[in-house]
Amino acid sequence: MAYAPVLNEPGLPPIRINLLSDTQTRPSAAMRQAMAAAEVGDEQIGDDPTVNALCERVAALLGKQAAVFMPSGTMCNVAATLVHCRPGDEILAHETAHIVALEGGAHAALGGVQVKTLHGDHGQFAPDRLREALRPATRNQPRQTMVSVEQTSNLGGGAIWKQSALESIVEIAQANGLVTHMDGARLLNACVATGLSARAMAEGWDSVWLDFTKGLGAPLGAVMAGSRDFIDEVWRWKQRLGGALRQAGICAAACHYALDHNVARLAEDHAHARALANGLSRIPGIAVQLPDTNLVFFESSGTGLASEALVAALRRRGVLMCVMAGRIRACTHLDVSAAMIEETLAAIGDILQVAAAAPRLSSPAPRRSVS
Ligand SMILES: *Cc1c(COP(=O)(O)O)cnc(C)c1O
Repeated sequence: MAYAPVLNEPGLPPIRINLLSDTQTRPSAAMRQAMAAAEVGDEQIGDDPTVNALCERVAALLGKQAAVFMPSGTMCNVAATLVHCRPGDEILAHETAHIVALEGGAHAALGGVQVKTLHGDHGQFAPDRLREALRPATRNQPRQTMVSVEQTSNLGGGAIWKQSALESIVEIAQANGLVTHMDGARLLNACVATGLSARAMAEGWDSVWLDFTKGLGAPLGAVMAGSRDFIDEVWRWKQRLGGALRQAGICAAACHYALDHNVARLAEDHAHARALANGLSRIPGIAVQLPDTNLVFFESSGTGLASEALVAALRRRGVLMCVMAGRIRACTHLDVSAAMIEETLAAIGDILQVAAAAPRLSSPAPRRSVS
């Protein structure tokens, strides 16, 4: 199978406004300086001081006993499943969850688990849906071991789980012997938007991780936290998966820099996302989900232009977005300015005007895949 190139198809102008994903950020000059100056050692044998300090810092931030540096968020989710579950077990998660849709089937391929998917708006399920999905302990039903949530939900439009819902889910899980896992790829976006601490949001969750390559702007790395016993077991899987590293302090230094400089500024990304959504909501025929954080999902078919066609037309003007699960996703991040949002809105207005005059001018773009 051939995969469509995502970024620079031949014949297209350079990308000036990159709203594809918050993973598109490049390490800044100051971040690179911090990386160059990092003290390093052999991470695999616990000897990298910069990694060790980062793990202690994130464990404290999340209110957990211990933490481990991982090459990616996907490896955090996979390792959590491998530690918490046995082949044949069942995980409960939202139907749009990253573990279901965007991890190459890793949880089935490597963990031998199945996922029972739960419905609900914005990537979230009501605590009652979890209660209804619980199976009685019988010989013929799979054993349910783990419930997983995303804070914030990616395909749910960057939506923030209410603290009361998170607490109810922990309560139901604990009463029924389920382990709780929080995919916190964008947890700090939720914290900045609500003013609640990461520690409060993570309370009661057995495993929780942060991604440094999303809005925080680092080139590589995620850190997963939990009990000391859990982290010891994650280490074994990290080794087995080929994720144990050597002088990873160079990357951990970028994560320290991100925690020092790139957390409070997430509020700017949220403001830019709101400005984009507000502008879109004024365009007749566009249906937009008002964002809690930095992801804007919208649908353009009401304008007469399908989502793929609008994305393709924007790309021809140097503006990059993608279609995810049938909707257009635009993602704000530290390389996106307020002026770029204005320009994007103007480009969309222009494209729709041209399309209205010549309805069949645009052709669909190839399907893109990003997280
Ligand atoms: C990006 C993302 C991941 C995976 O993180 P990587 O570091 O890209 O592997 C997992 N869950 C969610 C919700 C994400 O948005």
